[in-house]
Amino acid sequence: VCPTAALTEVNHTRKVWKALHNPDKYVVVQVAPAIRVALGELFGMEAGTIVTGKLAAALRKLGFDQVYDTEFGADVTIMEEAKELIHRLETGGRLPMLTSCCPAWVSFIEHQFPDMIDVPSTCKSPHIMFGTLAKTYLAEKMGIDPNKMVVVSVMPCVAKKAEAARTELSLDDHDNVDIVITTRELGDMLKEAGIDFDKLADEDFDHPLGESTGAASIFGTTGGVIEAAMRTAYEWVTGETLENVEFQQLRGMEGLREATVDLKGQEIKIGIAHGLGNARQLLEDIRNGKGEYHAIEIMACPGGCIGGGGQPYHYGNDEIVKKRQQAIYREDQRKSIRKSHENPEVIKLYKEYLGEPYGELAKKLLHTKFEAKERI
Ligand code: SF4
Repeated sequence: VCPTAALTEVNHTRKVWKALHNPDKYVVVQVAPAIRVALGELFGMEAGTIVTGKLAAALRKLGFDQVYDTEFGADVTIMEEAKELIHRLETGGRLPMLTSCCPAWVSFIEHQFPDMIDVPSTCKSPHIMFGTLAKTYLAEKMGIDPNKMVVVSVMPCVAKKAEAARTELSLDDHDNVDIVITTRELGDMLKEAGIDFDKLADEDFDHPLGESTGAASIFGTTGGVIEAAMRTAYEWVTGETLENVEFQQLRGMEGLREATVDLKGQEIKIGIAHGLGNARQLLEDIRNGKGEYHAIEIMACPGGCIGGGGQPYHYGNDEIVKKRQQAIYREDQRKSIRKSHENPEVIKLYKEYLGEPYGELAKKLLHTKFEAKERI
């Protein structure tokens, strides 16, 4: 269960309906990787049924003006995070670097491990990056006033609601993401609208922020973010093509695990934790000098976001979480492109707008600064 869920779960579906019924608003929606392998459960489907196409169709039926994929934001996150890791390795920067996609853990470090506040990557999380790009790049491309744009995130996570409200992640004076709803809240909206979800024909996401790779799909499960980062870091560091993109040593459901990835002579030691106690253990080992890692991934929820606090309830049934995880890996395999830096729409975004990954504009828009906070 999401560690912050009990404190912050508030239903925001009314806000979404209000935006959808406001003719002066242009409402853009994005959906996280973990949604597509779990939403079907709310409509009587087997756990692990992949409903990506029905999901896009259903969101259009609800009335969203544009239907996009947070997986695009995940691919951009990898461009930034892989570059940041390489930069830290080459310049003697702070190691290990913690992937910063899980707001529950970023918040935990701020309050519980303030001496380690320089460990998390400065990258904003994928849905926040997406929101920033929607209100800058996309708004500019489509000639829409960003003040009239409402970005809605459908997330497996309750902590993402609090994350979207953090001022240090906002852009100038306005939020990047205006409203966050969970998988369960989306299910409620679809039922309220009388949409026959299982009968919908598959549709695609809109473009230019709708293309994604297999690397982005695996963000939804434990070990996935770091595996996606390694697919890109390997090719950028070695200059060689990575033939087998599946880093099996980074996969699994053990709560605490470590693995080494060989970047042709440079061994990258990786630590992975999911679940509350395991994650604390990993950070304490690092603090005490017991664990020496170059990169770590921590997800607060067991299994990662597939087991998030906003997902359909699984009542502690690990088999359901495992089926969702298997579906995530099937989704990766079914993609024709499986490395983030090969996503043609991401390449275009950097060429047309951002410039270099981890460059000046990318840092301004897509990175942030975390600060130590009072211990609670
Ligand atoms: Fe949210 Fe995923 Fe972190 Fe759980 S693991 S708190 S769902 S970001």
